[in-house]
Amino acid sequence: MSNDCIFCRIGSGDINTALVAESGRAVAFRDISPQAPLHVLVIPRDHIDSLASAEDESLLGEMLGMAARIARDEGYSASGYRVVINTGADGGQSVPHLHLHLLAGRHLSWPPG
Ligand code: AMP
Repeated sequence: MSNDCIFCRIGSGDINTALVAESGRAVAFRDISPQAPLHVLVIPRDHIDSLASAEDESLLGEMLGMAARIARDEGYSASGYRVVINTGADGGQSVPHLHLHLLAGRHLSWPPG
């Protein structure tokens, strides 16, 4: 864990944050600046800079499964949703701790900007 990393501090419980879901290795919480009626971030508890440096494919599957469960539990399985992992500078990643965005509750256009 890095004390300089806000998501490490959320994942470790150092910053008290209402969790939407959690497992041994991942936690989900609401984005501070929601871009859709449902906007949840799923992060690994341990620090990984980005998808580009993620090597544990079972952890990635766990995070994806957590997102799908949250979408289902919040009632968006039928209407649909989007899962995004911004990666690196061109991908628009602003927080350098791997995170998956789960967005739902409005029509999302494509392609992204
Ligand atoms: P990205 O641009 O893909 O790196 O996304 C980072 C996301 O983290 C943005 O959607 C921010 O609104 C969100 N964010 C940053 N700090 C916090 C925080 N303390 N709690 C919840 N969401 C945050």
